[in-house]
Amino acid sequence: MEGRPLNMDLFDKLTFPRLNLKDNTLDDNDLARRCPLDNGHACNTPQQDLGALDALPLELLQVLLAQLDLRTLTDFRRVNKRALQVVDSIPGYKAITTHAPNALRGILSIGTGRWITCETLHDKLCTVECETCGDFGGYIYALTCKRVCFLCLSEHEAYLPVPFSLARRKFGINRQVLDTLPHFRSLPAQARASGRRNTIRRPRNDDPFDGQSGNPLRFMAIIQAPTFKRSSQEVEWGAYCVGCQRSSKQRPRHFRRRFTKESFSEHLHECGHIRDGVHQDD
Ligand SMILES: [Zn+2]
Ligand SMILES: [Zn+2]
Repeated sequence: MEGRPLNMDLFDKLTFPRLNLKDNTLDDNDLARRCPLDNGHACNTPQQDLGALDALPLELLQVLLAQLDLRTLTDFRRVNKRALQVVDSIPGYKAITTHAPNALRGILSIGTGRWITCETLHDKLCTVECETCGDFGGYIYALTCKRVCFLCLSEHEAYLPVPFSLARRKFGINRQVLDTLPHFRSLPAQARASGRRNTIRRPRNDDPFDGQSGNPLRFMAIIQAPTFKRSSQEVEWGAYCVGCQRSSKQRPRHFRRRFTKESFSEHLHECGHIRDGVHQDD
């Protein structure tokens, strides 16, 4: 299999698109209702302009606005219809609201928009690999805006937020300090599930108890998001391996791994071709 690209039919035959599992990630919280977006709705000709900003060519304005954090950009968009029109015309913003609206909704809902620019989110959505392990990353960590895979988000220290009460007790962090650190507000249903509210990024040498994939804290700022290609806007969700479907093994045979056509070819090379739903190297 090495070096030979897998044809699409074979990829479709040896993979499947989704698991029948609910992880209670941030996007499982009815975000479309909590944080409705009106993008894509036709809007009348604007009556007002943007004042001095309208002196800039549109392309330059788009580049500048894409550097704004998502909270500020969302507020700016509400200034008037012209502002809405200009924000909606930013190519990266348009791609986000078209292909991954829940990423924007989730970030705005938990209040991390002030630390994430439109450009950064767009870059992460165009990134295929998990930033920690290089596997297909099907998720965005909405606190620090990282592309991440399921195994890393459920195991790695970098994706475990720490509750504010614990940060205050252990590290003496007060509200003023908290304000300078990336932190988020959990959605009410999620907070009830874990009995916790304010959280910030977990420092090292902290409480050893975790629970990993069973720890609701790990899913509070996690959003499922496809990756998309800048040039073609082609959207990819990744797919699971038929041969690893019933595996209880760790990597490289973990049933939670997702693949693209390219990385699946490497997976077959590493674990053996699949016949009758089983890797032949078993
Ligand atoms: Zn990973
Ligand atoms: Zn496999």
